[in-house]
Amino acid sequence: MKIIVKYQCQWCKKDYSDRNQCFAHELKHIGITKEEYEEWMVKQRNVRDTSFKQLDSSNEKTRKSFDNAVEELIKFEEEHNIHGVHLGDTGSFIIDDNK
Ligand SMILES: [Zn+2]
Repeated sequence: MKIIVKYQCQWCKKDYSDRNQCFAHELKHIGITKEEYEEWMVKQRNVRDTSFKQLDSSNEKTRKSFDNAVEELIKFEEEHNIHGVHLGDTGSFIIDDNK
């Protein structure tokens, strides 16, 4: 018996045998390039990291770093019209209802 895994675009239902190809295809629906996606992930990580630092030690410097990271992320998401889009646990994009 052979197990065949396929990936499907959640927007147009196009099938792919390769996960990365399907992901690259879905990025086109969202309207960002792979490079913009990488930049987006860096900004999200930055929010997470600065939030942990702030929890560790809350002071003016850590609060300011966290606020800046959040601002940068929101600005990027608004510029690319991806505010309200995020990645779920399975690696699928989730779009908020109000998007
Ligand atoms: Zn598609």
